[in-house]
Amino acid sequence: MSSNTTTENAAAIRNVAIIAHVDHGKTTLVDALLKQTHTFSGHSSEMSQELIMDSGDQEKERGITITAKITSVQYQDTRINIIDTPGHADFGGEVERTLHMADGCLLIVDAQEGPMPQTRFVLKKALELGLIPIVVINKIDKPAARIADVEDQIANLFLELAVNEEQLQYHTYYAIGRDGKMWDHVPENAESSDADIEPVLKAIVAHVPAPRVGSGSGLQLLVTSLEWDSYAGKYVVGRIERGVVTTGQRVSLVSADGVVGDYSVGVVYTFSGLGKTEVASAGAGEIVAITGVKDAQIGQTVTDTETPEALPTIELEPPTLRMYLGPNTSPFKGKEGEFTTSRQIGDRLMRELETNIGLKVDQDGIGFVVQGRGELHLSVLIETMRREGFEFEVGRPQVVYQERDGETVEPFEEVTVDVPQEHA
Ligand code: GDP
Repeated sequence: MSSNTTTENAAAIRNVAIIAHVDHGKTTLVDALLKQTHTFSGHSSEMSQELIMDSGDQEKERGITITAKITSVQYQDTRINIIDTPGHADFGGEVERTLHMADGCLLIVDAQEGPMPQTRFVLKKALELGLIPIVVINKIDKPAARIADVEDQIANLFLELAVNEEQLQYHTYYAIGRDGKMWDHVPENAESSDADIEPVLKAIVAHVPAPRVGSGSGLQLLVTSLEWDSYAGKYVVGRIERGVVTTGQRVSLVSADGVVGDYSVGVVYTFSGLGKTEVASAGAGEIVAITGVKDAQIGQTVTDTETPEALPTIELEPPTLRMYLGPNTSPFKGKEGEFTTSRQIGDRLMRELETNIGLKVDQDGIGFVVQGRGELHLSVLIETMRREGFEFEVGRPQVVYQERDGETVEPFEEVTVDVPQEHA
């Protein structure tokens, strides 16, 4: 889709991250938002699909978000960019970078389960970044829903994690996401009661601030994620901190060490529904995808050529697990996959490094040592490569130790186990 529109009015934009523990209803709720804002009018095949948002195969099967995705809905005069954030600690790098694009967050909590580890993990990061939260207690139709308890638990979580007074004044909504219904109070007879999803749209416009924009006019855009397709090559996705980006504009790519190179912007896209819309230009506060900056890496800054100033990059947590991954050396080689050589596997891993920033790869003999953020992170990679037709053997995962002040330290994870009294 192509148009000559420009979006240079930050006041008409809201950027919200959506955060939730697995299965608390994030995907269902975003689907309802898409449907009720008529994003799909005229696209009946998409309307009838059950869960529109989890697009990767493994994301559907595992029911988790792995890479951040942006969905955009129009509500009256405001365009709302909804930033889906991965909830698992293994994708922590993604979480922080993507939250950085938002000014507010929608926290979705299951009315029966209450806040869970991932609720806490992502909320903590969101509050640390100063995002304004809106709470949605979802699935209030469940017979075992315990809304008042869950509200208390959420309040305690905020008391512990909020970094300012304003974050404690959050608004709470009650939802049956599956039916596309939402209320600003606990409804008497929820399932037979008439409602729609509008309360949350209103809340976003009213409570989430318009995007903060930097002072000055020179373009600055932090490369937050990268997408790739064989048609246009690399897409740089990020939020415009200040200035304007225009089709054909000359831009500089800047890293902490200085200018990497100059490029011409190919096409500028904003997000709409689940897809992208071509625009002539876009202004500060907007989240865009642009083509043409072919060498861009996550964490670098796209700027105008006169003021090539890098934005601070987001520190990433180091890998915690490593594993050998190399060509199959057994006599049965070549039975399971099409791509089997060290070279093919190496090229594929190098390509992965372009977009998977928590990952590290080093040559080890004919194979490679792959380091990642955890078992889930590495297993998703292995499974993705198998499905693409790669055959390889893997070693046992091993912990990555670090040297700190002359001492060897080991990464650890905090685990909380809740069990009923009789099993304690
Ligand atoms: P996500 O992992 O957070 O994206 O969760 P999903 O949106 O995939 O939902 C997880 C499950 O909860 C699905 O089986 C949904 O049908 C179900 N679900 C979503 N919303 C509701 C709701 O309001 N009530 C009930 N009872 N189930 C819901």
